[in-house]
Amino acid sequence: KAKHTKNEAFHFYRPVDSKESFEKLMLANDLRQAIKNNEFTLYYQPQSSLKTNKITGVEALIRWNHPQKGMISPGVFIPIAEETGLIQEIDQWVLYQACLQHKHWLDKGFPPIKIAVNLSMTQFQKKNLFEIVSKTLSKTGVSPKYIELELTESVIMENPELTLSNIKKLNSIGIQLSLDDFGTHYSSLLYLKKLPLNRLKIDKSFVLDLLNDSDDRVIIQAMINLAHNLNMTVIAEGVENQQQLSFLQKNHCDEIQGFYLSKPIPQEKFSAQCF
Ligand code: C2E
Ligand code: MG
Ligand code: MG
Ligand code: MG
Repeated sequence: KAKHTKNEAFHFYRPVDSKESFEKLMLANDLRQAIKNNEFTLYYQPQSSLKTNKITGVEALIRWNHPQKGMISPGVFIPIAEETGLIQEIDQWVLYQACLQHKHWLDKGFPPIKIAVNLSMTQFQKKNLFEIVSKTLSKTGVSPKYIELELTESVIMENPELTLSNIKKLNSIGIQLSLDDFGTHYSSLLYLKKLPLNRLKIDKSFVLDLLNDSDDRVIIQAMINLAHNLNMTVIAEGVENQQQLSFLQKNHCDEIQGFYLSKPIPQEKFSAQCF
């Protein structure tokens, strides 16, 4: 059964579809203007504790409001941004905006909330990632403990030494690190043990069908045990109903994120609904 639904690391053969490449070229061109023209926005999706039922954090998810094409999902444009190198600017913009948002919520008197930001693989391959992140934190006045950076297993396998040194530096000042989409890429358990990761995010592909698929249930139980044995907390993505929640709760999963709690929503809506 195929679990490798996205971010495939290898394309052995792919027929060239000229219409598709033209579309990509157009989007790449528009992407260059998007930051300048303020076309990006962040949506926020709450994460909740299965012990206290309280909101413990939020994931920032980028949205692109294209002037002609309307909302374009990150699944479409992030890969293009990665191919063209524009991802650097985009990921830095996201981190900066997330920090501003954190500060803004604090200033309004809301309780401090941890914000998770997705960083693409190329960011973890940068020698100056630590400097970029710490500069953003000091510029916005955000405490490192409220920022979580999400990485995927493919980053670790690509350049383990540089990734390890980046993660260690970030972690040493209190920034949280989590492993996103766990189970969908190849990774070595040896690196999992070596890296100072704070939590594991079980990929939604295991959660969505868990009620019908006993393999998924067994894998999820193993992932939860693995995380806890390695001193990590564990959060399940893609929780859409009460039955999935109950299974995860019974099996000692720490937190959940998913449509059952809320879809990703704009910041005004988040402040109104989630605090
Ligand atoms: P991700 O980091 O794994 O984010 C979770 C995705 O699952 C989000 O899709 C979210 O909307 C979706 N989701 C959440 N709950 C549920 C649920 O209950 N059911 C289902 N079916 N889906 C759910 P989204 O926002 O379209 O983002 C897709 C991916 O794009 C993200 O996956 C992440 O890898 C990437 N991405 C998003 N924002 C950024 C960003 O700011 N920077 C970078 N580099 N990548 C980003
Ligand atoms: Mg994520
Ligand atoms: Mg991801
Ligand atoms: Mg994920």
